[in-house]
Amino acid sequence: MELPHGITGKLAEPIEKILFTEQEIQERVKALGEQLTRDYQGKDLLVVCVLKGSLYFTADLIRHINMPLSLDFISVSSYGDATHTSGIARITKDLDEDIEDRHVVITEDILDTGLTLDYLVKLLQLRNPREIKICTLLDKPSKRITGIRADYSGFEIPNLFVVGYGLDYKHKYRHLPFICTFRDEFIPKD
Ligand code: 5GP
Repeated sequence: MELPHGITGKLAEPIEKILFTEQEIQERVKALGEQLTRDYQGKDLLVVCVLKGSLYFTADLIRHINMPLSLDFISVSSYGDATHTSGIARITKDLDEDIEDRHVVITEDILDTGLTLDYLVKLLQLRNPREIKICTLLDKPSKRITGIRADYSGFEIPNLFVVGYGLDYKHKYRHLPFICTFRDEFIPKD
């Protein structure tokens, strides 16, 4: 398989297939940014980046939102492993901003079971925002076990374990510029 320049050795070893190239991601993220620009004109927009997975996505996305906005970060930990979210989450880093009466867009790397966002949305609703919308880069609808759905979604994917562009494998490989699958022997087993 042809990998971009600079991805060699240990970094390249587990990679099976590139699902979305850097260019495909950048084009889609730009389109999402343009859509948000249209939808939020004249509104007090607060983008809430869910750490750490949506760091790259959020950074790229907001540079395509052509209007003033605020950016804040939240970190949630769910008790579970890489493939199973238990749903019992807790905030490990809370927002700095007050969200009352504001238009909140939560940016997430991947919407899987929906348990993390279900928890987060319910928690943030208690703070009386004007509105909360969800913008996810990847959506795995086949795994959903909650009523949560994305208002904005980059790509819909089947039930695959994916890595790169913010998504980790055992806390590593987030910095790959593309989104890929890993070879079977590396994939966390169900
Ligand atoms: P949910 O609560 O929707 O089941 O889980 C969302 C979180 O699970 C994501 O933010 C991400 O951290 C993790 N996750 C779900 N699917 C994948 C995947 O395919 N790859 C990686 N690296 N993480 C995933």
